[in-house]
Amino acid sequence: MVAPSVTEASGVDDPALTAPTPTSALAARIERLAGQARHSGIDAMVIGPGADLRYFVGHSVSSHERLTCLVAGADGTARLLVPALERPGWSGTPAEDLGLEIITWRDGHDPYSVVAALVQGAAVLGVDDHLPAVHMLGLQAAVPGSDMALAGPAIAELRMRKDDAEVAALTAVGAAVDRVHGRMPEWLRAGRTERGVAADIAAGMVEEGHARADFVIVGSGPNGASPHHAASDRTIKVGDSVVVDIGGPSPAGYFSDCTRSYVVGGPADPELGVVHEVVRQAQAAGVAAVVAGGSCESVDAASRGVITDAGYGEYFITRTGHGIGLEVHEHPYMVSGNSRILEPGMAFSVEPGIYLPGRFGVRIEDIVVVGVDGQPLLLNNASTEQLAMPAARDGGMA
Ligand code: ZN
Ligand code: ZN
Ligand code: ZN
Repeated sequence: MVAPSVTEASGVDDPALTAPTPTSALAARIERLAGQARHSGIDAMVIGPGADLRYFVGHSVSSHERLTCLVAGADGTARLLVPALERPGWSGTPAEDLGLEIITWRDGHDPYSVVAALVQGAAVLGVDDHLPAVHMLGLQAAVPGSDMALAGPAIAELRMRKDDAEVAALTAVGAAVDRVHGRMPEWLRAGRTERGVAADIAAGMVEEGHARADFVIVGSGPNGASPHHAASDRTIKVGDSVVVDIGGPSPAGYFSDCTRSYVVGGPADPELGVVHEVVRQAQAAGVAAVVAGGSCESVDAASRGVITDAGYGEYFITRTGHGIGLEVHEHPYMVSGNSRILEPGMAFSVEPGIYLPGRFGVRIEDIVVVGVDGQPLLLNNASTEQLAMPAARDGGMA
């Protein structure tokens, strides 16, 4: 058996992975929310647990049973409503440092009437896209005079432009996932199952500073031709192409997402090297198109053009990328038909691939940010070359 290699200092030591969002950044976001509400014709917003709440107050809860919500007015007022029994969980969180008024409600009382009093006179009430129906209907009954609207589009306008604290958090978790790909020779070899390799990668992700592994795709041989294949009991063979697509949140909640395509020993399929090089060039072309003033669909077109010109267009079956932040998939999406203009602070994946059914797949994915200078800032720097993994189970780490 291979002795575990000595790894570099763990990413957990990187303060940027755990740093809470500065209070000043949260306050600025709440202020921008008020402006966006006015722009969208929304008088007040109700934001329940999830990435949206975490974005504005730096903390969230997983419980949806009792109503927890941020109530934010277009006038700039913001209050947090929490169940009394969950109030202790909010102490010491950025929500307290923000100086937000935290209102509690007790079992047996009606939280919707509390919200109704806070949003009195709102003609249009915006509700975050993920508020459970049970709370949505409770609110609706409590504010019969208000029209309800989705707050998601207005919130997305803010979340898709990352501030400095968010770019720092994404950069740190991008470096963490790079370290995980750098350790692939420890885990990925012939004779192991995809599932066994995936379990080791997931542990490595935590060792390198992720709060958890959110997904670990290990697509070997023909399984790599299915973009969202997870990991199966297939045994990896010498000559296989293996797509490894991994991601998860840092302790601060910001996601990594990075794909590399490996080969175990020498490629069994003579076309694999050609396909890998086409995808590598397509990915580089997509990254080069990430400039302020360009558009989301121009990034897609840049990657897709390279693959189409090489004759593999029909095998590039996905969009080129998705936004990333407190969620692994969020706005903006790099897809044909999305003419949205790229602006500094937008963060998203560039992940073209070629998927040959029954044979293999190749995908290369990096996270890119539109920098303040308008130029692409690459958050992943693991080599995009086709890397050969040891063929033998006891293959040397040297
Ligand atoms: Zn995906
Ligand atoms: Zn992705
Ligand atoms: Zn991915």
